[in-house]
Amino acid sequence: MQMPSAADLLLAWERGLDQSPTRRALALLAACLPGGTQDKLANLSVGARDAHLLRLRELLFGDAVAAVSECPNCGERLDVAFSTNDVRHMGVEKIDADSMKPQTQAHQLHAGGYDIKYRIPTSSDLLAISTADGIEPQLALLQRCVTEVQQNGIPVQTNALPDSVIAAISKDMANADPQAQIELGLVCPECSHAWNALFDIAAFLWNEIHAWAKRMLHEVHTLARVYGWREADILAMSARRRQIYLELART
Ligand SMILES: [Zn+2]
Repeated sequence: MQMPSAADLLLAWERGLDQSPTRRALALLAACLPGGTQDKLANLSVGARDAHLLRLRELLFGDAVAAVSECPNCGERLDVAFSTNDVRHMGVEKIDADSMKPQTQAHQLHAGGYDIKYRIPTSSDLLAISTADGIEPQLALLQRCVTEVQQNGIPVQTNALPDSVIAAISKDMANADPQAQIELGLVCPECSHAWNALFDIAAFLWNEIHAWAKRMLHEVHTLARVYGWREADILAMSARRRQIYLELART
């Protein structure tokens, strides 16, 4: 993984602005994994994708995360602070070594009398189900990722499975790709209610980059107006040098 330049990150942000959350995540991956083609990046498991996004988050903004959650019982807003290391399931070295490994491993499960084979969902699957009309997303994802179902050796359609088996597959899938679902165990200080809150690194990082991009464009605007410099030259400066010029521009 490489630290994207300010210009590349701005470009990724601009490309992702009018896109779905999945395409935004892929635009960010492309900025920090320049060796990966769109296809390769889209065929990473969602967990591998999110492991890379956690790494990118650390490179850009450090490992301390400050988020806000709302108690589902009483509505109290909680400040949640943790480190990216607390929610990482894979070693950093492994993430880099596996950076471009496509998701092809078959998983097997026996549930409710059915023998099931499936693969872990990728960004390609998320993109495909986002355009599938009229099907519940969880079922649409299973239909794509479950490769074989048999009952007593006889093939069975995925959409004929009972809800309990669908739930068992979803649970097994989540366990097989733990980085795809980051859960934070929280306790409300007001009402003592305990719950697991989902932390969506893709959405969280996108919001941070969105705020950064607007700040960066404002800085470019200020420096270009005062000094007449080109956007590309201002973006190519180190953040430290840019900050010093900004301070000087304000005096
Ligand atoms: Zn509460």
